[in-house]
Amino acid sequence: MEPAGAPPPSCAPAREAEEPPGSPALPAERPQDGEPAGKAREEAAAERSRGHGPVGRAARGRGRRGPEERGARAGRRPRVTVDSSKAKTSLEALKISLRQLRWREFPFGRRLPCDIYWHGVSFHDNYIFSGQVNKFPGMTEMVRKVTLSRAVRTMQDLFPTEYNFYPRSWILPEEFPLFVTEVRVMKESDPSWKPTFIVKPDGGCQGDGIYLIKDPSDVRLAGSLQSRPAVVQEYICKPLLVDKLKFDIRLYVLLKSLEPLEIYIAKDGLSRFCTEPYQEPTLKNLHQVFMHLTNYSLNIHSGNFIHSDNANTGSKRTFSSILCRLSSRGADVKKVWSDIISLVIKTIIALTPELKVYYQSDIPAGKPGPTCFQILGFDILLMKNLKPMLLEVNANPSMRIEHEQELSPGVFENVPSPVDEEVKVAVIRDTLRLVDPQKKKRKDTQSQTSEHVSETREDLLDAGPAGGLEYDTSKNAEAGLPSLCLKQVFPKYAKQFNYLRLVDRVAALFIRFLGVKGTTKLGPTGFRTFIRNCKLSNSNFSMASVDILYIDITRRWNSMGIDHKESGMCLQAFVEAFFFLAQKKYKSLPLHEQVASLIDFCEYHLAALDEKRPLCGRGIVERRSAVVPCPTDGLEVTPAVHAPLLNRMAAAGKFAGCRSHRYPGAVSPGAGRD
Ligand code: ADP
Repeated sequence: MEPAGAPPPSCAPAREAEEPPGSPALPAERPQDGEPAGKAREEAAAERSRGHGPVGRAARGRGRRGPEERGARAGRRPRVTVDSSKAKTSLEALKISLRQLRWREFPFGRRLPCDIYWHGVSFHDNYIFSGQVNKFPGMTEMVRKVTLSRAVRTMQDLFPTEYNFYPRSWILPEEFPLFVTEVRVMKESDPSWKPTFIVKPDGGCQGDGIYLIKDPSDVRLAGSLQSRPAVVQEYICKPLLVDKLKFDIRLYVLLKSLEPLEIYIAKDGLSRFCTEPYQEPTLKNLHQVFMHLTNYSLNIHSGNFIHSDNANTGSKRTFSSILCRLSSRGADVKKVWSDIISLVIKTIIALTPELKVYYQSDIPAGKPGPTCFQILGFDILLMKNLKPMLLEVNANPSMRIEHEQELSPGVFENVPSPVDEEVKVAVIRDTLRLVDPQKKKRKDTQSQTSEHVSETREDLLDAGPAGGLEYDTSKNAEAGLPSLCLKQVFPKYAKQFNYLRLVDRVAALFIRFLGVKGTTKLGPTGFRTFIRNCKLSNSNFSMASVDILYIDITRRWNSMGIDHKESGMCLQAFVEAFFFLAQKKYKSLPLHEQVASLIDFCEYHLAALDEKRPLCGRGIVERRSAVVPCPTDGLEVTPAVHAPLLNRMAAAGKFAGCRSHRYPGAVSPGAGRD
């Protein structure tokens, strides 16, 4: 079942490109408190090392009482503090948002910790011990073309129909032979199939290095591919056209929290148009970028590019204007929205397992660190039949609120763009409203005083101010603001999508055996312990076979050149090993059932183990605060991220019979890939 209902469209067009890494920061302003930024940071570090001020979650609230806190005690609501010193090109939109919210901006950083740190590029922009950061560690890596394709492929293996919104893709150079073979086989089985493919360099943006081909032999393998991997993808030949032009959609998505998963979608997006009338690809027109690529950064250079202040015309329009047009022609736009919501939730479900691995590595459980949220840019193409297809996800969607205008041929000037401002300021401002730490504090206080807060009331709290003295103040602060432009889609539709979160549960097993060293890769001992603790080895699957399996899969993944910084088994390699074991153990089932059964089996045995080790496992639910050194075998045990394992035991009981299951034969390397 798909989510019902569509967010009412409201926003306006804006600029769509991804923020390239290293974009220049906007001109700096005078430091607040009269301090240079560097000095402020040094003092903050000194302050932390002296033990003054909150240095982490444990210490939060125990720091020296600041003016905000004194103000709060005097009956005034403390203002939320935001460090904007690393905001780069999103600074302008952020400043306007903060003024609207009447929050306090620190453009040069602050001596004391801030509530929120707004980063223009990545999580690793400075060293932060508390508060919230608007980036997740590892997100930039996760949404690179190759990594995203891999993550979606894993989900396609499990749920092929549910994940058919992503074009068939191959990773170059390693899958080039597979690409050639599969295309040949498909052509043989359907001689009328005349495909086109699009080759996209990994890590590229704004159409950089992209080209179309008709045949695998046209891939430019020579030279650069080894140094720059790429994704080759089936080209969507029949996109929906408006005014005979191809266009795509940029939607803003807020990943508010990873654990528990919380996702919001902006009610409107942007449509970016090509500037040459579309024709299905032929050898003659393959090179016409203004016909085939919708990137703003490319089409702005076409003589046909139309700047328009009207959201319904021009080369950049609101998505809502497209939907209105479709609706007037009788199209089911509610279905389009519902399919888009589905696509977004499923894509994020594909990304979360690895994001959790990065998260625990950067912000190890029990250590001081911030929490994270992130605005993502989803690029979506509507096919002629209105089916949305995912093109890519941007970790740093451009938040500029100006656009380039060509004054004379080749001479460009940045001019303010009211439509960009309208959309992007709303997205940033409403993201801040949703992550508002004061609101969270008030919520916590409320839930302490009243244990029975109804779901409706929770929704009201989420949507804005509610009753009570503290909320009255908030009501005043929010009174002038429009309703939120971000609509919650998860956990709202969790029931419809939770069955897809199998790899999340595999990742929880992986993380449990990683240890506490802040690593992202599993060593051979960790893998052996996983096998032993989950009772996966027996006379037909010896520990020697386990070692061979580990070496075989790990070596192959590491040879793909993904990450040489650490040795060991990465999550994707562990997932492959896990699928292999599941296929061996539950032969006749479809893959997702095999995997689900093996997860239940493992969770059952780990729960039983935790039962036997009351000091290690019992009662610990939240992973972040619960990495427990276990004295019985020296293993660092991290309880699973998901629903309390002990609660699963009843459900897992049905697998008790599996304990005496015999593997049909020892695992031989490579056997599972036949
Ligand atoms: P970049 O990050 O360089 O913008 P994209 O993946 O967004 O890379 O691709 C650039 C453009 O190419 C898209 O905006 C879209 O117009 C077109 N495009 C990308 N993939 C496909 C595809 N599979 N089918 C049709 N058009 C595509």
